[in-house]
Amino acid sequence: MITLPPGLVFFERGWLSSNNVLLSDASQSVLIDTGYHTHALQTLALVKSVLGDQPLTRIINTHLHSDHCGGNALLREVFPSIDIHIPPGHAALVDVWDESGLTYEATGQSCPRFEKTGILNIGAVFEVGELAWHVHAAAGHDPHSVILFNESHRILISADALWENGFGVVFPEIEGINAFDEVESTLRMIEALEPKLVLPGHGAAFRDVSGALSRANSRLTQFRSSPNKHAHYAAKVLLKFKLLELQKHKLTQFLNWAQSTPYLQLLHVKYAHDQSLESWCLDLCRSLEIAGACALVADEIINM
Ligand SMILES: [Zn+2]
Repeated sequence: MITLPPGLVFFERGWLSSNNVLLSDASQSVLIDTGYHTHALQTLALVKSVLGDQPLTRIINTHLHSDHCGGNALLREVFPSIDIHIPPGHAALVDVWDESGLTYEATGQSCPRFEKTGILNIGAVFEVGELAWHVHAAAGHDPHSVILFNESHRILISADALWENGFGVVFPEIEGINAFDEVESTLRMIEALEPKLVLPGHGAAFRDVSGALSRANSRLTQFRSSPNKHAHYAAKVLLKFKLLELQKHKLTQFLNWAQSTPYLQLLHVKYAHDQSLESWCLDLCRSLEIAGACALVADEIINM
């Protein structure tokens, strides 16, 4: 059982929605990340279960992947005067709602449009109750992601830069942009912060930070020596994420979605062009089935 300081609540979600952290004191309440849009009502219910009648005053997004900011629009509807603060690198894309730049097109995911009201500057510090949070840049998984660190309790809100077992897909690599070096710098920066407790973007909170860092570093070494492994991991994550959203789908339609998804097309061209896109996607579904992540039954694919 992990004890958290007063005014901090951690919501561990399933993998379709990112985890959320709720910070509150008598005058304000801040939600870090808001989950995927199909779970927005669940996010709202979780927030209300803690705040009661107190309004949510601010949303902070660590980065703008659809599973981290999908609840922004609904929360703005419910709390019209809410502030939405995002990392600086995403600001221009959000202002014009560039679905390509924000990667919603490329991943075949969706995210309801929202407006930002402020920027979360790198190096800034904000306070909620007795907790001060430092904003650190954490490129790698996403070039513009930030993570948040509280020095007094040595708590790190790590988004997808560090999980208990690994880290999020290194998305720029899919586009042929080298980002493994950034992953390494971010892991080093986390190590230097010496967190005692990590609240990750997905999965359980954990205290064995050195164990998590060594697992993350060895995963990075693996990906560097065989980018093919990262490519297959990324492709399977994209398929599984969609399946988490759909739960159950006609296999032919699912394969049609996969074949029209730009990131899967890019990965196929670079790493699996010796077979057709369709048969590669089907092979990936089969390997997800072997891993227990889905079942192919009759003409359907079912999330497991
Ligand atoms: Zn992410």
